[in-house]
Amino acid sequence: MDLITHFLVPYIILTILKSKNKLAGAFGGISLDFDVLIAWIGILSPELFIFSHRGITHSFIFGFVTSIIFLYLLTRKPIKGFISKTIHRNINIEFNRSTIMLVYFGALTHLFLDFLTSKGIPLLYPFSITRYSAELYYYLDTITLIIAAIVLIILYLSLNPKYKKVAMASFIIILVAFGAIRSYEKFEVLQSQSNTLGNDYTHISTYPTSDMFTWDVVESDKIGKSNRVFQYNTLKDNKSNIRTFKSISIKNGSYNSAQDAINIANTLPIVERFKWNSYYTCIDAKYDSNKWDITYYDIIGSSWDRNSLKVSV
Ligand SMILES: [Zn+2]
Repeated sequence: MDLITHFLVPYIILTILKSKNKLAGAFGGISLDFDVLIAWIGILSPELFIFSHRGITHSFIFGFVTSIIFLYLLTRKPIKGFISKTIHRNINIEFNRSTIMLVYFGALTHLFLDFLTSKGIPLLYPFSITRYSAELYYYLDTITLIIAAIVLIILYLSLNPKYKKVAMASFIIILVAFGAIRSYEKFEVLQSQSNTLGNDYTHISTYPTSDMFTWDVVESDKIGKSNRVFQYNTLKDNKSNIRTFKSISIKNGSYNSAQDAINIANTLPIVERFKWNSYYTCIDAKYDSNKWDITYYDIIGSSWDRNSLKVSV
């Protein structure tokens, strides 16, 4: 979800609740995405991959820590003064118990929105590194972003409060409507495709794309050995780009030897990072001059990660 939406959602909710410190909530809403400032740590050292965008700060515990640090910095006089001067508006936020609660409320709305998007977030870190996702929204929804930007401008300008209320109400209605359409579409895909699952495939999962009517679908067999991937468009009711992948393909060696090599490779930090960033990982293992070349690849195209990784064991 984009930064402006993360700002607006808690701001609008707190406006409805008539909170005096709605800006604290809004800043809490954007605080977690300042993790881009620490993402270099995860890039430089693969074993610290939790330090990435949508990593450590996107958890209940570190979201709390991050939003409080953010609020603390924001309420320091020089920073507050600088922002107020830059945006030509007086930011009147203090660091106290009430604003701490509100800033965490904003962070929680952020976690909820990012949970709805592709690949999700490690909500329970440090207890679990698993990413949780409803796989409903794509990372970024361009239409939502454009509308959010317009609403932000309306809120910024010195306009009649009536217009601001209309803008905020419209934004929330559009956001909820898009969520409802996507939920319905996802349900439609799951239901229509479940009906056509043959004997070969028993399990189905769906992933959003930037088009709310087009979904990436993965069907896999009972034992998880074979997967079929395609794109499904609900408006045209058609499948495209159908491909099949074995979960593990082995060339030039025995299954057991390959499995041992894969088990070793799976413990490498770069592999752990790759799998953590991947939607659906399959493996090619090839025995070549006394070593196994193991290629991990994401069977669903990903937008910002490398979608394959080769290691030798
Ligand atoms: Zn985020």
